Amino acid sequence: MPRPWISQVRGSHRLSVFNNISSGSWSQLFTWGIDEINRIFREQGVPVLFERAGSREAANVEVGVSTGRASFTFRGQAYSLEMDQHRMHGRTYKAPGGNSEIESAFVFLPADPQMTLPRSSRSTGIHVLRLILLHELVHCTGLSDSDHSNNDIFNGYPDYHIGDTAADDRIGFMGRDGRVFFPPYYISAETAGKIRRIW
Ligand SMILES: [Zn+2]
Repeated sequence: MPRPWISQVRGSHRLSVFNNISSGSWSQLFTWGIDEINRIFREQGVPVLFERAGSREAANVEVGVSTGRASFTFRGQAYSLEMDQHRMHGRTYKAPGGNSEIESAFVFLPADPQMTLPRSSRSTGIHVLRLILLHELVHCTGLSDSDHSNNDIFNGYPDYHIGDTAADDRIGFMGRDGRVFFPPYYISAETAGKIRRIW
């Protein structure tokens, strides 16, 4: 079920995002992710603009990387939850929990997402990382796992292409006429409609 943000945030049509990514391959992707999700939303007329926050205090959303635990502080209380750093999916916590309106969101990106090969696994590459980041930014608008689509970056049933190298790996979905892999990155009119209804 989609969950709306508190009215001040909804009224502003903006989400400010604090970059809490300290290092690694994710650090170069933050600015790209903000620009790209804004382009994707503009293309579908979604009235939400992501902006970089100058400080954690000023932010609605915090984006960080998890190496095994996902930790954040909300209203002075510390939370820490298990997260697999090798999974091909991030995780977004919307606080407070339950069905009440969202006051803050915390995005955790897996530190080292791995592609599973027939006999082993290895770190995946840029195209998959980009998709994971964009997918979680869509969650930040208030959509949950039960709102996943089957034909855009908010797809919940990923399909993979294992490249010769990590840089050739792709993530995508099974479309009507066969597999579709990203990029390009986009949301469907249906996903756009779900976001628009809570903004
Ligand atoms: Zn998801």
